[in-house]
Amino acid sequence: MLKVILKGHDCYYGIADILRMFFGEISEDREKGFVTASDAPDITLINTVEDDGSSFTEVMQNAKRYVFDGVPLEAGREVRRSLYIALSDITGTELPWGCLSGIRPTLVASEEDSAEELAKKYLVREDKAALGFETSREEMRLLGLVPHDDLNIYVGVPFCPSRCSYCSFISEDISHHLGRLGEYEAAIEKEIRALAPHIDRRISTLYMGGGTPTVFSDEQFARLLDCIYSELKIDPGCEVTVEAGRPDTITGYKLDVMRSHNIGRICINPQTMRNETLAKLGRLHTSEDIVRTYELAGEKGFEVINMDLIAGLPHETGDDFVDSVSKLIKLGPGNITVHTLYKKRRAALSKATVLDREESRGDIDAAVREGYRLLYEAGYHPYYLYRQKDTGHGLENTGFAKGDTGCLYNVAMMSDARDILSFGAGGMSKRCFEQAGSASKHRVERCPTVKDALTYIRGSIEAAERKRAFFEL
Ligand code: SF4
Repeated sequence: MLKVILKGHDCYYGIADILRMFFGEISEDREKGFVTASDAPDITLINTVEDDGSSFTEVMQNAKRYVFDGVPLEAGREVRRSLYIALSDITGTELPWGCLSGIRPTLVASEEDSAEELAKKYLVREDKAALGFETSREEMRLLGLVPHDDLNIYVGVPFCPSRCSYCSFISEDISHHLGRLGEYEAAIEKEIRALAPHIDRRISTLYMGGGTPTVFSDEQFARLLDCIYSELKIDPGCEVTVEAGRPDTITGYKLDVMRSHNIGRICINPQTMRNETLAKLGRLHTSEDIVRTYELAGEKGFEVINMDLIAGLPHETGDDFVDSVSKLIKLGPGNITVHTLYKKRRAALSKATVLDREESRGDIDAAVREGYRLLYEAGYHPYYLYRQKDTGHGLENTGFAKGDTGCLYNVAMMSDARDILSFGAGGMSKRCFEQAGSASKHRVERCPTVKDALTYIRGSIEAAERKRAFFEL
């Protein structure tokens, strides 16, 4: 077991973040002042912050001291950096994003003047520093197109036609809840109708996500869109995106309904173009279905189609992922989003598993690099980027766009700098308050909606009332 004793500070969060990146599961004892990782080398470290704010990490067993000899950071970041340097040396592992542990490395990148600075201060690998720096500039540009006083809407539909084996979202398999879909649609309508008359702010962006919003029947889907457009008074300037997700839920009728509302953005997500993997993951479609649906959406006139891929899927090699990237590039959608698989229970890094994990990390890392290279070569550029806590392989999720087609909602939502009003189960509404003297840091207040779809069905009016109070509408 590896133990980190905190001295001169109480930044448990930062210590836990860094330990988790190396070893997976960790636990804390705040009373006794330490954090431990059970599946790790037997060693005790002392992480100290001195009165002048500098930080160092010592190994108790041999008095070895790790300290960064360069630009000082604020205490929370210093703590992370000195612990990262120690663990990196002890395990012989350098992580692609260095000591940047948060979900938004681009926020840190936006504070720096160059990719080199970012790499130097936070020990970020050169290619990731360049990616983070470039993406942060594009995110800032796109965020500037979403006025701070406007509202951004999320409509969540946590149902899918079947459950993918790797899924970590709160979605329900409709084979168990088919009869509930109509009730869920009616519940969202109720919530929208209860809140809409009180909304007096312009709506900049609207995103229907899930789950799979197109899981509804044709009639339910049309009814919900009619309700959204008439109640929320969506104007033609509003960017509207519908995550159609699985091709097995997309019908010509639903595409026509979306186009009749002038919706120009849709997501059709293969995750992989390898049929064998799709079958093993429990998805009820093939790569041919993806191509067919993509072509149909193109014929119907959708301007921007986003397609998601996942690197590091079970049953796949890095080459399989690169092959999927090539196939999507051939199709040529406006956006391609590359995710790295989030593993809830990933293999911990014990001494015995170091080599295995490093091999697997290396394979996915190299595949993601090659995928990005192909995307750049085909004229795509990164426009938003985030990491999930405990992202497998220490990598990131990156949205790529051709030309000026980046999704404003994605940028606004990840920025924590624009208000989000969420309808439906599991949604998180946010109010983001500008902080004096800082363009990038906002104070965020959150109002979650109950995650369980069936509880939401019974209480969507109460959910609307809570949000009305939260937004002071
Ligand atoms: S389609 Fe997406 S949300 Fe639905 S089960 Fe699969 S991964 Fe989860």
